[in-house]
Amino acid sequence: MSKDSKLKQYTGGCLCGAVRFEAEMDLSEPVSRCNCSICTKVGGTQAYPKPSAFRVTAGAEHLGEFRKGSSPNFRSFCKHCGIHCFSAGFVEELGGEFRSVNIQCLDDVDPGELKVVYWDGRHDNWEAGTRDRPWPIRS
Ligand SMILES: [Zn+2]
Repeated sequence: MSKDSKLKQYTGGCLCGAVRFEAEMDLSEPVSRCNCSICTKVGGTQAYPKPSAFRVTAGAEHLGEFRKGSSPNFRSFCKHCGIHCFSAGFVEELGGEFRSVNIQCLDDVDPGELKVVYWDGRHDNWEAGTRDRPWPIRS
């Protein structure tokens, strides 16, 4: 069976409902958390749809953007309720241009039923890949 056959369409949104999005993803694959400075504080859990498989369906005008310095990577959040729903950017080790979705914002998905793996984003240690327990936040 090809991997693509497990792609399913998911919808999601922020807390107040101003921002809505949809994405095709395979959530039988692990989702991930990261120890970088913003992921540590915000605490979202990410899945990575193909950029072409992600769409904002409502409320683009309500989105704010946060990025650290000149990073190509940014997080989009609802300016009303503050929830970080998704992000985008460019990380070579993730295959270049990427989108990520905070799976905790999805409709009809129980995050506790998904397998979670961890990135060491704090140290730009993408080449190490993911592992089953969190990486330290201090080096
Ligand atoms: Zn909102």
